[in-house]
Order: sequence, then structure tokens, then C-alpha cells
Amino acid sequence: MADEKKYVYDFSEGKANMKELLGGKGANLAEMTTLGLPVPFGFTITTETCDSYYKNNKKYPAGMEKQVDEKLILLEKKMGMKLGDPANPLLLSIRSGAASSMPGMMDTILNLGLNDVVVEGLIKKTNNERFAWDSYRRFIQMFGNVVMEVEHKDFEAILDKKKETKGIEYDTQLDANDLKEIVSEYKAMIKKKTKREFPQSPKEQMFMAINAVFGSWNNDRAILYRKLNDIKGLLGTAVNVQSMVFGNMGDSSGTGVCFTRDPATGENKFYGEYLMNAQGEDVVAGIRTPQKLETLEKVNAKAYKELCDVRAKLEKHYKDMQDMEFTIQEGKLYMLQTRNGKRTAAAAVKIAVDMVNEGLIDKKTALLRVDPKSLDQLLHKQIDPLSKSKHTSVAQGLPASPGAAVGQAIFDAEKAYEWAEEGKKVVLIRTETSPEDLIGMNAAQGILTARGGMTSHAAVVARGMGKCCVAGCGDVIVNEEGGYFEVKGQRVKEGDYVTLNGTTGELFIGQLPTVDPELSGDFGILMKWADEVRRLKVRANADIPRDAIVAIKFGAEGIGLCRTEHMFFEGERIKAMREMILADDVAGRKKALDKLLPYQKSDFKGLFETMKGLPVTVRLLDPPLHEFLPKEEEDIQIIAKEMGVTPEKIKEKIVKLHEQNPMLGHRGCRLGITYPEITEMQTRAIIEAAIELKDEKLVPEIMIPLVGNVEEFKHQKEIVKKTADDIISKAGSKMKYKIGTMIEVPRGALTADQIAEEAEFFSFGTNDLTQMTLGYSRDDVASFVPEYIKLNILEKDPFQVLDQTGVGQLIKMAAAKGRGVKSDLKLGICGEHGGDPSSIIFCHDAGLDYVSCSPYRVPIARLAAAHAALKEVKSG
Ligand code: PEP
Ligand code: MG
Repeated sequence: MADEKKYVYDFSEGKANMKELLGGKGANLAEMTTLGLPVPFGFTITTETCDSYYKNNKKYPAGMEKQVDEKLILLEKKMGMKLGDPANPLLLSIRSGAASSMPGMMDTILNLGLNDVVVEGLIKKTNNERFAWDSYRRFIQMFGNVVMEVEHKDFEAILDKKKETKGIEYDTQLDANDLKEIVSEYKAMIKKKTKREFPQSPKEQMFMAINAVFGSWNNDRAILYRKLNDIKGLLGTAVNVQSMVFGNMGDSSGTGVCFTRDPATGENKFYGEYLMNAQGEDVVAGIRTPQKLETLEKVNAKAYKELCDVRAKLEKHYKDMQDMEFTIQEGKLYMLQTRNGKRTAAAAVKIAVDMVNEGLIDKKTALLRVDPKSLDQLLHKQIDPLSKSKHTSVAQGLPASPGAAVGQAIFDAEKAYEWAEEGKKVVLIRTETSPEDLIGMNAAQGILTARGGMTSHAAVVARGMGKCCVAGCGDVIVNEEGGYFEVKGQRVKEGDYVTLNGTTGELFIGQLPTVDPELSGDFGILMKWADEVRRLKVRANADIPRDAIVAIKFGAEGIGLCRTEHMFFEGERIKAMREMILADDVAGRKKALDKLLPYQKSDFKGLFETMKGLPVTVRLLDPPLHEFLPKEEEDIQIIAKEMGVTPEKIKEKIVKLHEQNPMLGHRGCRLGITYPEITEMQTRAIIEAAIELKDEKLVPEIMIPLVGNVEEFKHQKEIVKKTADDIISKAGSKMKYKIGTMIEVPRGALTADQIAEEAEFFSFGTNDLTQMTLGYSRDDVASFVPEYIKLNILEKDPFQVLDQTGVGQLIKMAAAKGRGVKSDLKLGICGEHGGDPSSIIFCHDAGLDYVSCSPYRVPIARLAAAHAALKEVKSG
């Protein structure tokens, strides 16, 4: 039929940009062929065929087999050999290859075309009996396993038995006769296990293998790999049928893998490994140690030089670092694969910047080459990658805050502080943390909690501090009183060493070596390029000058959220705070608040000073008051004494403040409405601090939390305005300030137009907005969200990656309603999503003005914002 769909492309027909149809491997083999590189000829069956195969009850689409036959004839002609011809046999490799690389996940079959007769022909042709039988043996093993589904161990048992009877250690010590015997034993075993003969027809072998490759698209490990790597929307795998070349034809043959630049450091030097007299799987299997690529020059100078030329040609052509596979058959070089090489974050940055300097790519391309998320690797101390494989983790929690922490286990925050003061390195381990633990969290190398999700107290605070944290590690049972924790039957006591990997969520027992981050000059250059193209501003969530300094160092353009409650815990402040909570009347509260005022004022002054006129959004008190009271009997006694009240009075207050669901209780603006004197004091502290600084550029932004009703906002605004204006006029100052709100209650988003009439800015508090929209308590998600993800009910943890379909809708709607009333309404986001690249792209598209995230995520946000801008230009 003239209009029959084309299912098969030979290597002279494809191109690199046909990845969707030909898969990455097929498209690049075609491209290399067109470039005139030495590629063994072959053809590719398209990914569309795989799609039809699955849609069609695992049957090939009509006409596909005929097209394969035609291309096979072409292949035979090109190679001057014939499949199944004993006098001049063509052998094939059959490999999978989807549009996105999925290394090792799908199936490969080598040496296809061998049978009992062809093997004899191969002996005659090569004059190499051992090689021929070894090839046949390998083929039966691969085909038997992959296509006929005989377990690998059944082949290994036969092989091991043979080696044992011969008293030898390596496969290479088997002679031709041994291999011939193994072949018969393999075939007999296959027949016994599968009740069918090993197929002798090479054509039948070929179609069975093609079938198996399509089948491998949906094997468990391929499905899992796609899920873990977020690979979606592909049609399936392509199948590459290629003429075999042999690296195992003797000492002048070999095979290897190489990278055009060092994939670990990015250094512009040829990097790779190879093995002489071997086939591809020998390099991977690790039985023989591969040689360093540089030494190939001594073994075969001509092939090495050719390979160097290929390196130069491919890099210039693809304008990216390439990961290549090659085979040398009796001295002649063949290229079997090229693809963009995977690399560490450090290498990605260096290669991107170097390639711009070399004139290979432009800055925009360089920016898009670096995954913003991967920058985390560069900003924190990491477990030494070289030692990682030597240790196994004992438990897995949530990767709440990246980096590595090594230290002695400690279960009490005060003690963590004391030990740290003595110069010890400690890891604070708690069932969960509360604001009281801040002192210990600050002193510790890292934090481990058994409960809590990605926005739990421990996670949020640790990220803010840039401190490694593993949260919600459910296998860990912490006994704070006893000073130990148990994990899978092991007990770890106070003082024992543990190591955390906050980047992966792993817990190790013992001390693992770590490496420090290196913020190279290239990193700074790339960041500067990102700043040139992004539209979104990037601010940081920071509460104290120390965090603000880090934020500035990483390039923050303001503070998007200062959580004032974090200022109430240190030293004398907590006493005054508790006095305020324990007070029975307004007068008593005011007295206590007067004590807090100077602290708050000096905190704000420090923050404003550090930020040098950049915008600073200060949020008024948000958490429920019980968080400031002690929990343990011992602490109650101490505090009662300190404050000169009875322990009973404190206990009474604790009972009174107890809430069934404090996250939805007396918090946010509800506090300021019921205790207006708190709002008054905080406003005074902010405004007085700002006036005293005499910085004309400074325009403090006062933010009212948890507003769901415009009346709540109006109430608070009036207090803030009255207090602020009064101070400003008394001081004879002209200082400006802004009053805005967080949009973090769904009703706030729904009525954003009404709120925008009153507010000067919105900042989306997506932690609470997610909590309230999904109805998932942000501190309790660890108990079910991982299971939801496993079951595909959720794709991602919505507290890490914004739920664009649900919560995102509320954001877009609130933004539109708000801007409908006030076209210049400033919009930002300060929930944890403000540091997540995919959520940042959403914020860009939703028209937000800025994102605010923890200081250590600022560079990630800057790059993600650049990506958002570049992708918009590209698609629009
Ligand atoms: C939020 O809810 O997104 C937010 C930033 O506030 P917090 O995490 O302090 O509740
Ligand atoms: Mg909130």
C-alpha cells in the first residue's frame, strides 16, 4: 500500500531530532551514520510501533513485518553478509531505546542469528573456534533469559558447575570445547524449563527478540524508573536492529565507554574505560577491571586517535557533553552509541559555562542545561560520593533539608546545645520538634525526627537554617527520656555516632566521610546569567540577621517572610512571652508586651540593617500560644519558680489553651483580633526600628496572617495603621510602609477581590493553603502520603511540589481577582513551594512578582525563575 505508515527507518534515514519516533539511541545512531562516523549499519523500529503493539493486544501493526524484512535485505546488502547464512553469517544486536534514556531498564540481545549450523560457519569464517562458541553461549544465555524467560541463575549454575569441575575461576579460562558443552547443556535446560526447543531459525529469533524488547517497555523496573525520573507521555520504546561488531575477537579487539568531558568534575578532558577482548556486558559486570581510556593509546594508537577525532566531532556537532560506547573489532573502531552524558551538578555548571566560553552554546542554552534542583548538591556539605556505596542506610525518612550531618546522637535540645558548646558535633533526634527545640536545632549538625512531613516544624526550620534534616523517619522509635532510639532491632544510645543524608532522607549508623561544597566561580557566573533573564524576583524567608546574611550571599532580593514568633524563644524573651500568655487581663498582657518590645525592635533593626533598603515583609504573630508554654512537668516546675507563679497556674493555662486542632484554632490574625495589644506592640517595634534606621529606601511590609474574611483584615489594618501613623507623625518622619496579607485560607483566596480592596500586597502561604485545601494536616502527612504516592493517588507530596490542579487554581483565581481590583497589587509566595523549581515555573506563569524561599534555596529559585522565563519565550 502506497500510504502505509512507515514503521522502520534505516540508519541513513533518521536524524537526531527524531528522538520521539526513533528513541534516543536510534536517532543518534542515524545522526552518527549521516556524520560519516563508523557505525555498524542497522535500522530502527519506531516507538509508534510499540504504541500500536500495546493498543493492539500485543500484535504488530499490519505491514511492519514486511518493512522489517525489506530493511534486513538492505542491511545484508550493505554488510555483504546474510542472516542465517553459514558461509557468511550476519549477526545482529537488538536493543531497546526510548526517547528518554532509561539505562539498563529494558532488554538487549546480542549475537542474534547464531544456531547450530551458523556457529560452524562462524568458526570457519573467523578461524576462531573459542570466539564462535563463546558468542553462541552468550547469545543463548541472553535470549533464553530475556526472550524465553528462563532465570539467570539457571544459566549461572551450569556455568559455575563447569568451572568447578575444571578447577578454574574465570569464564575466560573456558576453552572452545567447554563452551560447546555448555551450549548443549543450556539448550537442554531451556527445553526442560520452557517445554520448547531453542529456536534455530534466525528470522524467528529476530522477531521473538523484537517482541521481547517491546514487552520490556512495561516490565516492573522500567515502570519504576519512569516513575522515579518523572518520565511521562512517551509512546514506548523503539527497537534498534544493528549489525554486530565484536570486541571479543582476540587481543586486538575491545570495547568501552567514554565521556567527552569528565562527568564528575566537568573538566574538559577525555574520560572513559575499556576492556580488550571483551563484549559490552563484561565492562559493566565488574568481573575484570576496566582500563583507563588514556592507556588505549599504547594498545592501539590508531583506534585511539580515531576515537579522539570522534570525540571532537560529536561534541562540536551536539554541542553537549557526550557519553559514547565503542567497540574495536580486530583493530578497527566502531561507534555503537552516543547520547548527552549524565553529570553531577558541579560538572553541569562547569560544562555549561565552559561551553559558552568556547563559543559552542549561548547563555540561554547554558542556563537550561543545569537542573535547578541539582544545585542543592553544590550548596551543602554532602556524604562523600566515594564512600556512599560502601554503607547501607538503616532507615529512610523524608529528605526534609539537604546536606549531610555526622554527629553524636542526642535527644534533648538543651543538652545538644551544651555538648555543642563543648565542641562536640551532635545530631538532634526527636519524635518531632517544637519551637522549644530551636536552641538544640541551631547547635546540632543535623536533625532527625520520627514524625512530621516536609512542612513540619523541624523541616521548615532546618531548611531555613540550611541545616540537614531527615523528617518523618517512621522506622525510628525515639525514647527521649531513656536517651536512645531503636531502629529495626538496633539500639542507638546518646553519644553514639549517626550520619544523616538530608538530600535522600537516609539514616546511617556510624560516621560517614563528607565533602564540603565548592561554590566555584562558574557557579557565580551562571547565577548572573540567570538574573539577566528572569522576571520573577527571588526573596528569602529569614527571621534573624544571620539568616538574612546567608540570603543576601545567595542573591536574595528581599525578605518575603519574617516569622516573628521565631524571635520569641531566646533567653529573656520567652519569659516575657510566657508572662504575656499567663496574664489574666489586658493590663497584665501590656506589661509583658512592653518587655518584649525592645527585643522585637532590635531584632527588626538588625534585619532591616542587613537588608539595606531591600523589601522586608514582617508577618505578625501566627502560631497558637500553647506552643510557647512548657510541656514537661520538670520544665513547668522550673518556669513556675522563675516567674513567681504556682505550677498549677501554668497547668491551668495549658489546659485552657489546649485545642483539639491547633492548626485550625486560635492562631494567625485571630490572635491579633482577640489580643489587639499584640498587633500594636509588633507594629510599634517594626515602625520604630525602621524610623530609627533613617534609611529612606526602607518601606517595611507588615503582613497579617491567616486572613479568610476581609473583616479580619480590616480589623487588623486599622490597628496597624493607627499605631504606625501615630508613631510616624510623632517622629516627624515621612516613612512609608505597606499593609498586606497572606492568602493561605481557601476563603481568603475565594474572596480575594474584597481583600484586595484593602490590602497592598498578597503573599500566598501555600503551606497552609495546601493544608486547608486538601484537608491534610501538614504535620501528619508522613503517615499516609508516601503510601498515596506509591498507589498513584498522588503524584508528589503536595507540601513539596505545588498541587497545581487544586491549590494552583485557588492561586490563579485569587491573583486574577486581586489584580482585577488593583492592577498593581504585589503578589508573592512564601510557602515552601517558593523554593521548588516546578512550582516556581507555575508562579511565573501565574504572573506572581516574586517567590520567597529558605536562604539556601535562593540560587535554585533564581535558576528556576530563569528557566521559567526562557521556556515561556521558547513556547510562546
Ligand atoms: C504558609 O502557610 O505557607 C506559610 C508560609 O506560613 P507558615 O508555614 O508559617 O504557616
Ligand atoms: Mg501559614
